[in-house]
Amino acid sequence: MNPQPAITVPDYALAVVERLESRGYEAYVVGGCVRDSLLGRQPNDWDVCTNALPEDVLRVFRRFHVIKTGLQHGTVTVMSDKQPVEVTTFRIDGHYSDNRHPDAVSFVSRVEEDLARRDFTINAMAYSPTRGLVDAFGGQEDLAAGLIRCVGEPDARFNEDGLRIMRALRFAARFGFAIERETAASVRRNRHLLENVSAERIFKELKGILVGAGVLDMLLAFPEVFSCIIPELAPSIGFDQHTPYHCYDVWTHSAYAVAAAPADEILRLTMLLHDVGKPGCFSMGEDGRGHFYGHPAAGEKLTKTILQRLKSDNATLSTVCTLVRVHDMTMPTTVPGMRRLVGKLGVENVRRLLDVQRADHAAHSDYDHASGVALIRDAAELLEDVLEMEPAFTVKDLAINGNTLMQLGMKPGPAMKQVLETLLTAVQEGELENTTDALIKKSERLIAAIN
Ligand code: ATP
Ligand code: MG
Repeated sequence: MNPQPAITVPDYALAVVERLESRGYEAYVVGGCVRDSLLGRQPNDWDVCTNALPEDVLRVFRRFHVIKTGLQHGTVTVMSDKQPVEVTTFRIDGHYSDNRHPDAVSFVSRVEEDLARRDFTINAMAYSPTRGLVDAFGGQEDLAAGLIRCVGEPDARFNEDGLRIMRALRFAARFGFAIERETAASVRRNRHLLENVSAERIFKELKGILVGAGVLDMLLAFPEVFSCIIPELAPSIGFDQHTPYHCYDVWTHSAYAVAAAPADEILRLTMLLHDVGKPGCFSMGEDGRGHFYGHPAAGEKLTKTILQRLKSDNATLSTVCTLVRVHDMTMPTTVPGMRRLVGKLGVENVRRLLDVQRADHAAHSDYDHASGVALIRDAAELLEDVLEMEPAFTVKDLAINGNTLMQLGMKPGPAMKQVLETLLTAVQEGELENTTDALIKKSERLIAAIN
């Protein structure tokens, strides 16, 4: 028997547990908050489970603000000291005919029965200050060993709900845990169940996996799971690049590149997909080296298809597509060149591109490594210098605008746009100062030349 761990339940959640107990019910904090507390992490939210039936919960909390979140599944949200606490009646889930939603739930009286329906041992613990920790499936032991293990028989549990396959990888990635052997074998065997899970939920879990500290191990250990949700990645697995720049196949390189990028959803999605176009663009040069001409553009196309299918939001889709398209561009080495790039991509995306190139480089072989790193560092310094110069990146940054040109006698239209573009280029090339006077003088000459 482990010594009873002390979990510090915040007052607002404790108030919910104590109120149920004072009315004669059993109540515990449960799931993620118990797991995170035992790990010494700050829980996101505090969930409560209880033997009180939903109508009893509504009655006990009638003078609280209560939201009937999922009453048919036994869940109500109680606002306690302005914080939401989900209170769920002990339940078991009925049959899952669609590998996703239980057809019905039944309420049960013992906390152990409720814990048995939960996905992983580390998520199946409950705690109450008066009753202590309830750990019926070895959750503490698995936390100590760093293991994600299904509660019960893995095949059966994944068949009930295919999303659990992604959740297993997400929790393992988040905590840097391994997936226990039988659970891992079952993940691989049952990966096709992900076909029954909605794209939105898969995408959300995928992003969770990618930003996890342990993502590298998951990508290396479960390529077939990732290629099940993104079939376009399948050809990358084991694809030999035949070049001294790469010590890894395309998949392994991409996995290391993901892990080398800052833990940000956009950057890590980009690294996962940056070389997705490579296998389709492979050619063998006369020198016996592999080439991948056009792979960034091909990759952008595939990335768009993939992210649309995953129901990505548009901002993520368009940024990741842009970064995949430009990921291996040669960075500018001059002030005007850097200004043009910033004008085209925006400052934020140029910064992201530098992160992408750093991560890509970190996952290359040592061949020519130092010179690549130096180029990226120089580009990063150039960017900072250019930003300090308060330059113009787009026509909007020019000291004059269309109104000024109208006062000079121009009409809005393509010719006006052309004049503004010409002014911008001159400013970016350093031939013209970005001041009202200088721009008006130059405009007058340009307008005279048109007429
Ligand atoms: P997070 O920190 O990501 O919120 P969490 O453990 O709180 O982690 P939730 O998705 O909020 O995860 O779910 C709360 C609890 O409900 C889990 O700890 C687990 O016990 C149970 N649970 C959630 N989803 C499932 C599922 N698909 N199958 C079985 N049990 C689940
Ligand atoms: Mg949670």
